[in-house]
Formats: sequence, structure tokens, C-alpha cells
Amino acid sequence: MNTDIDCIVVGAGVVGLAVARALALAGREVLVAEAAEAIGTGTSSRNSEVIHAGIYYPAGSLKARLCVRGKHLLYDYCAARGIPHRRLGKLIVATSAAEVQALDGIAARARANGVDDLRRLDGAAATALEPALRCTAALLSPSTGIVDSHALMLAYQGEAEHAGAQCVFHTPMLSARVRPGGGFEVQFGGDEAMSLSCNVLVNAAGIHAPTLARRIAGLPPASIPQEYLCKGSYFTLAGRAPFSHLIYPVPQHAGLGVHLTLDLGGQAKFGPDTEWIETEDYTLDPARAEVFYDAVRTYWPGLPDGALAPGYTGIRPKISGPHEPAADFVIAGPAVHGVAGLANLFGIESPGLTASLAIAEETLARLSL
Ligand SMILES: Cc1cc2nc3c(=O)[nH]c(=O)nc-3n(C[C@H](O)[C@H](O)[C@H](O)COP(=O)(O)OP(=O)(O)OC[C@H]3O[C@@H](n4cnc5c(N)ncnc54)[C@H](O)[C@@H]3O)c2cc1C
Repeated sequence: MNTDIDCIVVGAGVVGLAVARALALAGREVLVAEAAEAIGTGTSSRNSEVIHAGIYYPAGSLKARLCVRGKHLLYDYCAARGIPHRRLGKLIVATSAAEVQALDGIAARARANGVDDLRRLDGAAATALEPALRCTAALLSPSTGIVDSHALMLAYQGEAEHAGAQCVFHTPMLSARVRPGGGFEVQFGGDEAMSLSCNVLVNAAGIHAPTLARRIAGLPPASIPQEYLCKGSYFTLAGRAPFSHLIYPVPQHAGLGVHLTLDLGGQAKFGPDTEWIETEDYTLDPARAEVFYDAVRTYWPGLPDGALAPGYTGIRPKISGPHEPAADFVIAGPAVHGVAGLANLFGIESPGLTASLAIAEETLARLSL
């Protein structure tokens, strides 16, 4: 059957761009359709920009496998293309007896995931590394780092376009239908509303991916998870941080706890916290700073009063609710829903930035491309 274009990727976040790059490098004709005015205006520019080591995720999960593989691919990619990044290392700090015990579980889980470079430190060794820190014990993760996520997305876009892909903006996908003979008819809105047919459709719409999937006629509804939104707020530190490593508390249920991360300019930020919300809303409530002071002072008692300024927020594209175990990434290809040529990417929360190159590989594999 004739089609207008071979592959359509919906969403120009870090994941959509990584998938588009992989498709284009595999010799496929690719159109990336993005609703916003530019690349990376969604979750991909509202995160911690941390290259995660792959420590916390259940062994055998996609999050574990794709984070560890993605981390190696990402460090190599950044080094080869001059993308700003730094392997700063991170300390996971325990400040109570219960948390010291939890470090053992974290270390065991990391080993099961193939992260074999963690070092256990007692309180004195940790404070020798970071004198401003207060903790009873810590784990040092040398392979954790930071990356300039926008430079990374520009590199993915540039490489995809160099291999023939095209990115169009102000082009929201509205709906699609599975064509009886194979492929898809996709409707787009925006200034130039249009309909395009394609053989391969990748839904990388981030927090909107489940809603968008429900608008694909012919896709079994049972293959689409319920979505939940979990906002994370960040506060920035006025002045220089007295830390050279990323500092993480022992993780909480829906997030990794109020951690300290550094950007490539050395600016420190704290967050994200967790706030379950009903609709997409990026406003930041400055009153949340109170909780941050308390949380941060458990490991940095010297945080001065008035040092935190409202930063920004991001929204985790969750597919498990507040009282459910954290869900894994879902890369739903034909084996899940029975529709040839379709991949829906659901629940690509952290470590989606770290794992982006590995998610792209996995998506192509699940599409048998
Ligand atoms: C608070 C927070 C902190 C995080 N920290 C880290 C971290 O430190 N390290 C890490 O590895 N990961 C981190 N993550 C996860 C990471 O940011 C995400 O996994 C990643 O950015 C997801 O990229 P994406 O391309 O799937 O989604 P997005 O970046 O949200 O991109 C989706 C795109 O789809 C577009 N779109 C939506 N609907 C449509 C439509 N109908 N038509 C066309 N386009 C559409 C949107 O405009 C958007 O540009 C964090 C996430 C959050 C929320």
C-alpha cells in the first residue's frame, strides 16, 4: 500500500529524537512531528540532567537494563561529539540507622543490575570527601554524572536530519487509525492541519502518550495504561554549593528524595520533590521551600536560611499511582498490542534521559527494524 512517509515519530523530546536518529541512521525515511514550537520543551528540559548509574531499579527491569546500557552509550556518545558532560560521582547518604541498613539493599540491587563500582563509605570517609556533609554512612557511585540535555537533543536532531529526517513543529498529532492493509492514517492539527499515511508510528509523546494512544483507532484499549502525573519542584541555591559530588538521600517511594545536583556551570539545585497532580501545570509554589529546608538539613545542616530560590518544575509521566509499586518503562510494540509498525512509549520517567539511546535501540528491536 502507498504511504506518504515511511516512519512518523510523535514528540521531539530526548526519547523521540533518539528514536528518530536511530531510524534515520538505519536508512528509514522519518518525520518527527512536535506539537510545541521547538525540541525538548517538555520533560526533557525539566529534569535533573543526571546521567544515572542504574542503581535502584528492580533487577531485570527495562529501567535497570536500559539505564545501564544507556549510561555507557551516552558517555561514549557525549565524548565522541563534544557534548558537555561530567562524571562527577554521587554520594547516597544515610542519616539514620534505618537508612544505613537500606544502603545494603541499594548496593545489592546495584550489583544485580551490573553496577559493580559502588564504594561503601563510613561517615568519616564521606565527610573527608565532602566536609559540609553530615551522614552516618554513604555509597559512592563514581559512574554517575551530568549532561547538558539540550546539547544532547540538538546532537540527536542534527544527526537525524543529516541522515535525512525532518522535524516539524506546531504539528500536534490529533488522532490516527490503523489501515486495514497495514500502516496508519495520521491526523495532525496546527496551522496547517493535514493527514499523512505511514508504515511505522512511534508515540513518544511523554506525559501525553497514553491519551494519544487512546486516539489511535484499531489499537486495543487494554494495551494502554492509566496515566498519572507527579510533579517535582526544584529550588536553586543562592551562592556556591560546598559540594563537588551529587548528594542523594536514601530514595523515597515516588522519587529519589530531595537531592542536590550541580549543573555544568557549578550551580546547585535541590529537588525534585513529589506532588501528585491532576492536570499539566508547571507552576511552582514557593511555600514548598519549607519542606526543602528540613529535608536538605538532614544531610547539610549548614544550609543557610533564605538560601533557596524557586527554580522550576517537571512532571513525571507515571503509569502507576501514588499507592502502587513503581511501574517499569513500557515500550509497547506489536508483541503487546498486535498492531504491526506501532510502538507506544509509556511511563518514560527517570532514567529516560540517561537511557535514551538504549530506549531507541529497544524500540527499533520491538518493531523488528
Ligand atoms: C522531575 C524530573 C527529573 C528527572 N531527572 C532525570 C535525570 O536526572 N536523569 C534522567 O535520566 N532522567 C530524568 N528524568 C526523566 C527524563 O527527563 C524523561 O525520561 C525524558 O525527558 C522523557 O523524554 P520524552 O522524549 O519521552 O518526553 P518529553 O520530553 O516530554 O517529550 C514529549 C514531547 O511530545 C510532544 N507531544 C506531546 N503530545 C503531542 C502530540 N499530540 N503531537 C505532537 N507532539 C506531542 C511534547 O510537546 C514533548 O515535546 C526526570 C524526569 C522528571 C519529571
